[in-house]
Amino acid sequence: PPPGTPDIEIARSVQPQSILLLAQQRFGLPGESLVPFGHYKAKLDMAYVDTSDSAPRGKLVLVTAITPTPAGEGKTTTSVGLNDGFNRLGVRSSVCLREPSLGPCFGMKGGAAGGGRAQVIPMEDINLHFNGDFHAITTAHNLLASLIDNHIHWGNETGLDPRYVSWRRVMDLTDRSLRNMVCGLGGAAHGVPRETGFDITVSSEIMAILCLADGRADLKQRLGNIIIGRRSDMTPVTVRDLGVEGSLTVLLKEALQPNLVQSLEHNPVFIHGGPFANIAHGCNSVTATRAALALNDVVVTEAGFGADLGAEKFIDIKCRHTGLRPDAAVVVCTIRALKMQGGVPRSQLSVPDLAALREGAANLERHVRNLQQFGLTPVVCINRFPDDTEEEMSLVQSISESLGVRAVPADHWALGGEGATELAQAVLDQMDEGTPEVNFLYEDSLPLADKIRTIATRIYHAGSVEFTTVAKRQLEEYESLGFGHLPVCIAKTQYSFSADSSVKGAPSGHMLPVREVRLAAGAGFVVAVCGDIMTMPGLPRHPAALDIALDENGLVVGLT
Ligand code: ADP
Ligand code: MG
Repeated sequence: PPPGTPDIEIARSVQPQSILLLAQQRFGLPGESLVPFGHYKAKLDMAYVDTSDSAPRGKLVLVTAITPTPAGEGKTTTSVGLNDGFNRLGVRSSVCLREPSLGPCFGMKGGAAGGGRAQVIPMEDINLHFNGDFHAITTAHNLLASLIDNHIHWGNETGLDPRYVSWRRVMDLTDRSLRNMVCGLGGAAHGVPRETGFDITVSSEIMAILCLADGRADLKQRLGNIIIGRRSDMTPVTVRDLGVEGSLTVLLKEALQPNLVQSLEHNPVFIHGGPFANIAHGCNSVTATRAALALNDVVVTEAGFGADLGAEKFIDIKCRHTGLRPDAAVVVCTIRALKMQGGVPRSQLSVPDLAALREGAANLERHVRNLQQFGLTPVVCINRFPDDTEEEMSLVQSISESLGVRAVPADHWALGGEGATELAQAVLDQMDEGTPEVNFLYEDSLPLADKIRTIATRIYHAGSVEFTTVAKRQLEEYESLGFGHLPVCIAKTQYSFSADSSVKGAPSGHMLPVREVRLAAGAGFVVAVCGDIMTMPGLPRHPAALDIALDENGLVVGLT
């Protein structure tokens, strides 16, 4: 396709292969190990994948990024392109990604299955409905909500205080009118009135749980641990107290199985689970990562936002919970994001500006040094955009190399896997230097407040952390309830190392304000809220829904 062709048209210009044949040829998996959804999508039956500790296991490559612009810097695109690059080098490789949320596709966010020649297909299906996982999560979440209201209606044996029910309802749409509401209106026959509201499905704790659970038993255990609210003496009431974790697990039994699809170059792609990257850990499911590692020599995976948030959570939450460890990391940077970090306004990002690039490179350096703190030596991927000049590309390459790391320009967006073989080779060379000793930033035993301080000072380079009175009280309470050993998940802007999205580059000495702290006892982390968190987005004045339609051939148009 010519330059400027929309992603959806590029995606449709390639005829996908039968997913059953692909799984058979690539992995030697028998037909009965897959549950097909049509011809090009399938779920993988975990019974056919040996994920035991003694099974051979591929190397895990984490794709992360510098501080992004609002348009995104191409982590997903690079993950897909890098995987195609590995396969072109003859390496048996797959990529593991998050499932996109349906609602935002009708607002302003484009699809989330890569871009250009580095995409996953069938693109429309992946972005809309996919294999029903989000519907299952939505249903399990709302079953629990209905069971809570029913429990209160029929006598409330646990003594749950209706004013302190924290479990809300979810749907996979962006609908601001449902953020705050009163349920149970209409008199005694219709339940007990109380304030509640809706969040988007990806923010559900069940989404985070599904993505961290390493099997059915662990899934049930974590679901039982969910705290749904408090009694009037503030003691927590859990799902286990209601006795409904079995029912929730039943609704999720298919959703727990990883989904297999393919890239434009017919390489295997696992797309499974999509937790928020702010109030949750922001990476695909453990079941998909483990299945992919059992079937491949190399597995590429993406963590949400920049490395300060995504990579930190990947290591301190996902790896800590599961024993997984990355063998390499790739930091994606773009010329336009570096210019933005160098102070260039958004409207001027396509104008060449070497001085701003030099300035903005401080941000790249900070992310590289942070990853080194975890024991990883990252490879820098300079993701080339059509407007980038040769001077700009070579300046970023030489700045990166002066940091002592490999740096490779990559053209997978324009060229597919062929444009990422050099990057793939650099990652292989990096891994040939030896297995990194990956370490966590803090021990489980460190008090929660100190865990937050550790991330703030060592990763964000903050000078101090200020807790509101509420946050202090919550931290003390979670410690006294026995949750002090959990890792922390920081919810803060992805546009700056500080809590202020307008502060660019590599700021130091700033103050991190912790407004409130939430407990995700089922998922197994404590969320420190350091800014505004939107768990039910709205639609813009001109939503993409106005442009999305079926054409005369029944094909989707307007989905970007
Ligand atoms: P992230 O995963 O970091 O949020 P994506 O990979 O989803 O970013 O990319 C964000 C957007 O940028 C997508 O629309 C994608 O098509 C586009 N994009 C990514 N890389 C390039 C590139 N090299 N040239 C042009 N557009 C790109
Ligand atoms: Mg992405």
